[in-house]
Amino acid sequence: NFVHPASVNALLDKVLTFTTPLLRQHQVQLTVEKDPDIPLIEVDGERIKQVFVNLILNAVQAMPDGGRLTIKTYTGNNRVCIQFSDTGPGIASEDISRIFDPFYTTRKDGTGLGLSISHQIVASHGGNIDVTSSEKGATFTVSLPIMDPTG
Ligand code: ADP
Repeated sequence: NFVHPASVNALLDKVLTFTTPLLRQHQVQLTVEKDPDIPLIEVDGERIKQVFVNLILNAVQAMPDGGRLTIKTYTGNNRVCIQFSDTGPGIASEDISRIFDPFYTTRKDGTGLGLSISHQIVASHGGNIDVTSSEKGATFTVSLPIMDPTG
């Protein structure tokens, strides 16, 4: 497939150019904090952008009447991380173990495929998606390995 060295900051910027109008339409305030020194990583950029779109759309769906979406990029543990935090209702503890299952949805018009596909895409890059939740909202953190060029 189409794996190239890419900046997750640049991929995020591309996704934000076409998702920002939707955020604005739903009164979702956006905060973006990008680590300017983030290293390039080997990814299929189109697929990783699809993951970012899915997480942003889920956040908007969780905050149909507004809120705040905070997106951060950072490095740590030989990984590049991209974190999406919303101020929606969060995820019930009985649902949290199932949200990555195909066709699992709590939305009346949901397909339950977004997180399942996103998880597969990230896993195929050797990474993972962590989720934490409280009554203050949900946080999804995508982490992707930084390849050692000598290894
Ligand atoms: P869909 O959006 O079609 O329901 P997903 O796989 O994207 O499918 O999400 C599965 C379920 O995970 C959603 O139905 C919802 O219950 C939960 N979920 C996903 N993202 C969020 C979020 N940001 N806040 C609260 N719940 C969420």
